[in-house]
Amino acid sequence: MITALKHPRTKIASRSHGYIGRFAPSPSGDLHFGSLVTALGSFLQAKSQGGQWLLRIEDIDPPREVAGSSESIKRCLEAHHLLWDGNIVYQSSRGDLYNEKIQYLTEQGLTYQCQCSRAQLANPDFGRLCVCADQNMSFENSAVRFRSYDDQKPFYDELLGKVDLPRHDVPMQFTVKRKDNLFAYQLAVVVDDIEQGITEVVRGADLLNATLFQLALYKGFDCPAPKFLHFPVVVSEFGKKLSKQNHACEINNNDASNNLINALAFLGLSPSKELKQDSAQNILEWAICEWDLSNIPAKTECIDNRIG
Ligand SMILES: [Zn+2]
Repeated sequence: MITALKHPRTKIASRSHGYIGRFAPSPSGDLHFGSLVTALGSFLQAKSQGGQWLLRIEDIDPPREVAGSSESIKRCLEAHHLLWDGNIVYQSSRGDLYNEKIQYLTEQGLTYQCQCSRAQLANPDFGRLCVCADQNMSFENSAVRFRSYDDQKPFYDELLGKVDLPRHDVPMQFTVKRKDNLFAYQLAVVVDDIEQGITEVVRGADLLNATLFQLALYKGFDCPAPKFLHFPVVVSEFGKKLSKQNHACEINNNDASNNLINALAFLGLSPSKELKQDSAQNILEWAICEWDLSNIPAKTECIDNRIG
C-alpha cells in the first residue's frame, strides 16, 4: 500500500548535495518523546543540508504491531510540522523486493537454510554453532540465514566518532527470513536504504549494534554503506529507555510547539523566550538554521530531566 499523500518541501533545497535521510518507525504504538527526538534530529540533519527527509513505516512484523499506529504516527509528525518528502514507503508492500534480494545473496553463496528454533538462534553462542550452514541442505519451512563475514571492523559514526563494539556482539550468521516467512528487520532496512538512496542513517544509539549486521549486508550486496549517525537515547532518571512498551511520555499533538522546544533542548538547541510561543513551523525554520551537531552530547544515553 503506497499512499499518494505528498507534502511540499519545508524548505527550498538551495544547498542540495543529494542528501537523503529518513525516519523509519515501526507501527508498534504511538510516538513517544524519545522517538520525537529521533524524528526531529533526522529531519534537521536532512533539512539543514537542503536534503530530502523520507518516511518509511516498518510494518514487517504483524504480531508486534498495534492497530492504528501508522495513522497516529503520521498525525503526530504532521502536528509537529515534520513533513516528509515524497510517498511513504510501507515495508509490508515490499515482500517481492526482499525475496529478490535474498535470492541475490543466495546466488552469491551467502545464505543457507536453517531449521534451528528461534529460541536457539536467539542465543548468540548457539548462533555460532548452528551446523545447518555446513549441511547446505534444502528444507521445507526453514529460516534463511546470512553467512556474515568474520571480519568485523570499527565503523565511523558522525557523532560518536570511531565505534568499536565488542566482537562477541555479532554472531557470524544471522537470519534474513524467518521460518514463519516474515522478513528480518536487518534485511528489510538495508534493502530499503539502498533502494531509496539513503545517504545517511540517523537514529538512536540503541541501534548501534544493528549497524554491524547492516554493514555485513551492505558488503554482501556489494553496495557502499551510507553514513551513520546515532543520537543519544532518551532515558528516565532511573536509566530506563523510553519506549512504546513502557508507555513513556506519550506525545500530546495539541502541544506541538512545547514538545518541539523540549526535543530541541535535548538536541542542544536553546530557542528564545519569544520563539517558545511561536508555531511549530517557525520553530523548525529557526532550528534548521541553528542546527549544529557539535551541540549534541556524543554519548549513547542522555537523561530527560522532564521525567520524574
Ligand atoms: Zn541451524
